[in-house]
Amino acid sequence: MKVSFVVPCYNEEGNVVKMYHALHEAFRDTGSLIECVMVDDGSRDGTMKALRGLSEEVCDPNLKVISFSRNFGKEAAILCGLRHTEGELVCVIDADLQQDPRVAREMYEILQSRPEVDAVGAYQDKRKESAVLKFFKKCFYGLVNKLCETSFRPAASDFRMMRRKMADAVLSMTEYHRFSKGIFSWVGFNTEYIPYTVKERNSGKSSWSFGKLFLYALEGIFGYSTKPLRIPYYVGGFLSVASFILIIVEIILAAAGHTLPEHALVLSVFFLLFGCLFLFLGIIGSYLARTYVQSKDRPVYIEKEMIQIREEDSRDPSIGDNDHHG
Ligand code: UDP
Ligand code: MG
Repeated sequence: MKVSFVVPCYNEEGNVVKMYHALHEAFRDTGSLIECVMVDDGSRDGTMKALRGLSEEVCDPNLKVISFSRNFGKEAAILCGLRHTEGELVCVIDADLQQDPRVAREMYEILQSRPEVDAVGAYQDKRKESAVLKFFKKCFYGLVNKLCETSFRPAASDFRMMRRKMADAVLSMTEYHRFSKGIFSWVGFNTEYIPYTVKERNSGKSSWSFGKLFLYALEGIFGYSTKPLRIPYYVGGFLSVASFILIIVEIILAAAGHTLPEHALVLSVFFLLFGCLFLFLGIIGSYLARTYVQSKDRPVYIEKEMIQIREEDSRDPSIGDNDHHG
């Protein structure tokens, strides 16, 4: 069996060689072939030099090194890496050794022993994060799980191992704005989760600032939900109904001889018009949502399995009937 690893690398000169050896070390006694696809995402340090050196040193036909023309981001590196994998099992893992290859081995063992499991993901049991970041992450998962039809498992990273059919399903998602966590959950399949402890970075520093994480979180919301486009419906509906009732009340009061405050009716009509405007925005949003979803060109469904008896194996049912009746 071949197990493929996709390793996105951005400024990881001190880690890539160690990562390669750590992966082989963790899988040494499995008898499986290890394919390592390392994608240099436009690093500005000596990552490519280290990878070139590694390639020459180990002479491993299952080591594939790809370099980008510039930094396209981790998601692009993962997509590229997945496209180059050939293994029956495919694992996405960071280059900085924060995600222990031995946990990948655990994933491998689960997939080997339990055929009903299609993928094993890892979630962080404890991560040394500031209280502020923890709070924002909690809010994000709460919001996303409310807004999107696909659910996201809190604290699960994109560190996971999947079977070929799931990797192919992920590759069938050709959308430009990629959010792996969302894609993994959108394609479905039976995923098990195991806890893992995030290690200290082997060398270098994290390239995810708070701002970058925030934008990534927005990617998750806008990429997986069109519900924000429906907000004008709620605002418009409320304004229209409320101002309509107000107008009726004002007319009745005026007819009964009450003197109304100046401009009361004008203001109510004004709100009614605003309400209508928001409703029209909602209508435009509905069309936009459909165009948006269509433009992602996601598969309408993903087949997991098909059962069909081959013709030569099939028997004439009438023979079976005769047998049955003796
Ligand atoms: N990475 C990448 N492109 C980027 C940023 C990061 O390929 O633009 C890679 C990076 O080399 C590492 C993984 O993505 O293998 C996770 O990045 P990092 O360690 O900076 O994130 P953190 O672990 O802090 O979430
Ligand atoms: Mg890291």
